[in-house]
Amino acid sequence: MALLFDFQCSEGHTTESLRSSDTKFIVCPSCGKTAKKIVSPIRVHIDPINGSSWKASRKWAKQREQRVQQERKENS
Ligand SMILES: [Zn+2]
Repeated sequence: MALLFDFQCSEGHTTESLRSSDTKFIVCPSCGKTAKKIVSPIRVHIDPINGSSWKASRKWAKQREQRVQQERKENS
């Protein structure tokens, strides 16, 4: 299974590449040197073009609004 990993060479170039999880080195496309895999924490990808995070927050706000209205009905 291929995953997207970050690689960095000794020149400081960083490259994102789809590799299998056991790949530890690639050839840097910028300088041809060996680039090592950077083990980084899971990043949250927010895509500003399709606005998926915005939609998600709108959905959350709508659900919250409905819950508040429901609680008001129950309390009145
Ligand atoms: Zn490089």
